Amino acid sequence: MKLINKSQKLDDVCYDIRGPVLQSALALESQGEAILKLNIGNPAPFGFEAPDSILDYVAKHLHDAEGYSHSKGIIQARSAILSQAMNQGFDNINLEDILLGNGVSELIVSTTQALLNNGDEILVPSPDYPLWTAAANLAGGKAVHYLCDEAQDWAPDIEDIKSKITTKTKAIVIINPNNPTGAVYPIEILQQIADLAEKHALVVFADEIYDKILYDDAQHIPMGTLIKNTLCITFNGLSKAYRLAGFRAGWAILSGNKTSAKSYIEGINMLLSMRLCANVPAQLAIEPALTGKQCIDDLRLPQGRLHAQREIGYSLLTQIEGISCVKPKGGIYLFPKLDLKRYPIKNDEQLIHDLLMQEKILLVQGSAFNLSDHQHFRLVFLPEKSQLMHAISKLAHFLHNYTF
Ligand code: PLP
Repeated sequence: MKLINKSQKLDDVCYDIRGPVLQSALALESQGEAILKLNIGNPAPFGFEAPDSILDYVAKHLHDAEGYSHSKGIIQARSAILSQAMNQGFDNINLEDILLGNGVSELIVSTTQALLNNGDEILVPSPDYPLWTAAANLAGGKAVHYLCDEAQDWAPDIEDIKSKITTKTKAIVIINPNNPTGAVYPIEILQQIADLAEKHALVVFADEIYDKILYDDAQHIPMGTLIKNTLCITFNGLSKAYRLAGFRAGWAILSGNKTSAKSYIEGINMLLSMRLCANVPAQLAIEPALTGKQCIDDLRLPQGRLHAQREIGYSLLTQIEGISCVKPKGGIYLFPKLDLKRYPIKNDEQLIHDLLMQEKILLVQGSAFNLSDHQHFRLVFLPEKSQLMHAISKLAHFLHNYTF
């Protein structure tokens, strides 16, 4: 029998958030087991519904979405994104600099494909949102991981970044607010990264999809407002703050020095043209989302549901013996650390797999986020309080009885 193998281009591509442990969870589900899935940041299944005003608008205008749009997307959506960016302090941008995609995910893949030659390096945080590493490697490039320091609230380690810039480095990825750590970076750190990127003419990929999900006194500074002398591409979308992950609506903003990046931008536009356009009904949702009431504030502020779930999740996890956690300042994830003296973990994927089998709870192991130690895991704090409390008490029970 002649076997049909996957392309070798996929040899270095790994996306364990939806990897083998999820396959085991799906197998359990097909046997009738109920699994509590705390593995991906998908707000809608946990009762975080999108505002009706957005859905009503899309439903009313569906007839306008029957044809392909411009490959960069519909004007109304791009104008709304442009105005918001200008209000945030982006300068020297216009409609041509706004590109719509089928989620940020598609744009991450297109912008890395268009940039990287075989062997080119791109600096990616560790831990990262692993699509960045996967997309860079799929494009033939090499993801080089820079450290984020847990002892410094998971801030990027500037000295480590400096030590990893080589003649092959083409770009740097900043995820802020960060998935999985929940860090929101201070301006001093962002400015140092901006200075380094400008000095070495690196493209800055700023993944800011959680920019509106902030807690306490956290302030988000868009990277695009700091970069002048090199190209910055800012990514955002409707999946998180507007709870519309299923719509697959995302965008990229090109800012900074676009003249030196003319050829690269042509390459991006070519790839976007090849896929004709992003899903047009989903593009319709962007303008009402950005110009309507920002209901995410009701959820993230102290009286809100997300805020309360972060509090309870953080407090219960850190009460478990041998678990510590940097309290997230943004996003929807907790990224706790297990003390290796108390829990001598050899294989964190196995641990998360065993938790699934015994307690029917699905988490993601830290190594899936390109972190070299094996003592972290990510938990999505989207379930309402009682479900979250139940899940964490089961986790505590599991850890207490687990034979390492
Ligand atoms: N970037 C980060 C940091 C994310 O956490 C996610 C999804 O979890 C994405 C991008 C993907 O976003 P989208 O749903 O717009 O493809």
